[in-house]
Amino acid sequence: QKAEILVIGGGYGGATAAKYLRLFSNNTAKVTLIEPNTSFISCPMSNLVIGGSRTLAEITSPYDTLSKRHGIKIIQDSVSSIDPDKKIVKLASGKTLRYDKAVVSPGVSLNFKSIEGLAQANKDGVTLQAWKAGPETVALHKQIAAMREGGTFAISIPEAPYRCPPGPYERACQVANYLKQNNPRGKVLILDANQDVTSKGALFKKVWAEQYAGIIEYRPKSNVIGVDAKTRTLKLEVEDDVKADVLNVLPQMAAGEIAIKTGLANSNGRWANVNFLNFESTARKDIHVLGDAIQIAPAMPKSGHMANQHAKVAAAAIVAELSGWEVNPAPVLTNTCYSFVNSKEVVHVASVHQYNAAEKTFKTVPGSGGLSPAPSTLEGVYAWGWAHNIWADSLG
Ligand code: FAD
Repeated sequence: QKAEILVIGGGYGGATAAKYLRLFSNNTAKVTLIEPNTSFISCPMSNLVIGGSRTLAEITSPYDTLSKRHGIKIIQDSVSSIDPDKKIVKLASGKTLRYDKAVVSPGVSLNFKSIEGLAQANKDGVTLQAWKAGPETVALHKQIAAMREGGTFAISIPEAPYRCPPGPYERACQVANYLKQNNPRGKVLILDANQDVTSKGALFKKVWAEQYAGIIEYRPKSNVIGVDAKTRTLKLEVEDDVKADVLNVLPQMAAGEIAIKTGLANSNGRWANVNFLNFESTARKDIHVLGDAIQIAPAMPKSGHMANQHAKVAAAAIVAELSGWEVNPAPVLTNTCYSFVNSKEVVHVASVHQYNAAEKTFKTVPGSGGLSPAPSTLEGVYAWGWAHNIWADSLG
């Protein structure tokens, strides 16, 4: 009897894990992927849709290659509960499935309670996040396009860690780029709960000064604690209230709901601790957690590239375990994160992370990686190469 492997969530971590479980087992592993969405919409590149230079269709990929080419069974549903003792998963449709190994990559959940009034403001259609690419991505672009002349777009950033450290700053650039061409008196206000820009700081600040002077205003240590939907006002912890026309309020984040509900989020009730040799949860045996949902190692970003890398280490370790092979004792992960500063120019940050057996964590390899010297259109070409490549690697 073949081991049943259930992969929960078909994002950057889950889709890659499903495919590589098949590849590493020479197409013999029995793999089922459970994902509610009919197609994969990428968060990377979605800021370009918000800025109006790209469409949602350009960042959407189908799931069916995973079944047609790789023999993965795909169930379009969502997991409503996992019973780790009985090793049973319950689907929203009511069906139950048994597993020998479960791979959980549900991404992040947004903690609406961390900002007073936010849940209501979202309900009223005043605020939205667009921190999971899809209909909200398009809706946010529409709000920006419909903003009054000379209006203000405000984005608030929660304290790190959150999904995609440079993502909010890239978004600010995309909105500013749109306003520069379509609403020249319009403004972008970045309210950052952190001490300073958390990724590519010097590069972003130079771009803001050179390309978006008078458009982007950056305020560090500005923690948004409340929203008044009626007056479109953001309440800050220390400073005066701020009024804006379009409110992109990002609350604190935690592991995807199913990870929390299953008791996997054993790091402050927020993120899942894993054994970095195989990404098995330290809370529950035979459940492997990937991507944004995990408690990251130092200097490891919550990124799609990282989730793809976690997935390969986990898939190799699961196949090794089920086959009685030795598990790789020293995995290495890479990360490259591109940010568009306008519709064509890009900056990147890269790093290499190696497992350290003594400390049981990943450590950045000294001298590895690097940072762009300045934005360039050539890096814009590389960034699209990265995107098409990772979509093909995860889903193709
Ligand atoms: P996801 O990719 O979000 O996948 C989670 C999946 O699980 C979803 O498809 C969801 O439907 C499914 N799911 C959730 N709960 C359940 C359930 N109960 N049952 C079944 N399925 C479920 N990263 C980069 O590397 N480069 C970038 O340039 C970059 N840019 C970004 C820009 C923005 C604006 C944002 C928001 C993010 C960006 N990221 C980038 C980060 C990247 O999107 C995430 O780090 C990545 O998606 C994490 O992968 P994941 O598998 O953990 O989660």
